[in-house]
Amino acid sequence: MLKIGITGGIGSGKTTVCKVFELLGIPIFYADTAAKLILKTDPVLKEEILKTFGEKTYSNDGELNRSYLSSIVFNNESELNKLNALVHPTVFRAFDKWLAMHTDAPYIIKEAALLFETESYKMCDLSVLVVSPEASRVRRIIARDGISQDEIVLRMKRQLSDEKKIKLADHILYNDESQLLIPQILALDQQFLNLVSEHDH
Ligand code: ATP
Repeated sequence: MLKIGITGGIGSGKTTVCKVFELLGIPIFYADTAAKLILKTDPVLKEEILKTFGEKTYSNDGELNRSYLSSIVFNNESELNKLNALVHPTVFRAFDKWLAMHTDAPYIIKEAALLFETESYKMCDLSVLVVSPEASRVRRIIARDGISQDEIVLRMKRQLSDEKKIKLADHILYNDESQLLIPQILALDQQFLNLVSEHDH
């Protein structure tokens, strides 16, 4: 089973790219969505979060108090590391379970905003980076989420720069409004299918 990791900075278009792969029939594991779900539903993780970050992290009806947790970890690297050390292994286990359900697919994709930062790319066979100019990313995120430019720039600073990620990525998709995205995705899909069939023969 060929495992492809897809990443890109905030607003680069990685989810958009994954939606196209989904239309081609490729199963996608959305790691960030899985992490959010797990934080809400995994009883062992909830217990660990409560122990580490205090009673206020969950409300009485069991809902995660996301803004409270964010306020603790936002500008505090050691608290963020603690949170990641709890969440990431749980997401990795969920990914392994999910993988076992998709053994008949030619290849699968894991979409993760922090694929390189969390080193989870090492668990993938190949990585794809979606690159998009900062100005387009800011514009798209403002339109999508209505958050301020300052907030977006702060979030960008917490991610590795594209320059660093380009060195680590096996493939690059340019979502820069001058190159058509879908033909690039179709070419990549073909490359992955060729790799799988070479491997099978
Ligand atoms: P995040 O890191 O915030 O999850 P992302 O990298 O997954 O973002 P998307 O959600 O795919 O990015 O794209 C951000 C926004 O920009 C979305 O509203 C999407 O529809 C839009 N968008 C992405 N690529 C294009 C494009 N080529 N043309 C027009 N709109 C686009």
